[in-house]
Amino acid sequence: MEQTIFHRILQKEIPASVVYEDEEVLAFKDIHPKATTHLLFIPKHFVASIADVTPETAHLPGMLILKAQKFAKEKGIQGYKLTFHVGKGGGQEVMYLHLHFLSEERVSED
Ligand code: AMP
Repeated sequence: MEQTIFHRILQKEIPASVVYEDEEVLAFKDIHPKATTHLLFIPKHFVASIADVTPETAHLPGMLILKAQKFAKEKGIQGYKLTFHVGKGGGQEVMYLHLHFLSEERVSED
């Protein structure tokens, strides 16, 4: 299986601005932010894309959404946009499932 840049971030082989981590998920700042706050939530269990989700891994997108919701609540972010890019035609460049979290509100520690 080909290692993506997100595998390498997860394995701490390359640095990232991590904002949240637990046993299921890692969240870090997008290196090319398209909003005041632009984060990426990735599952620790690898799936390449929404297009590859199976009944066994169907919980992962929902889990990422719940982590993003909890993060927003804890950081006092009221409004945000959540996006999955699916495949090349959907703008997906990194083939490791990730949820984009975008907001024009700032994370309180920033
Ligand atoms: P996508 O187009 O949905 O595959 O999104 C991939 C995202 O990963 C883009 O918004 C990139 O800016 C972001 N990205 C790529 N490399 C890094 C990195 N090393 N650290 C943080 N974000 C990255």
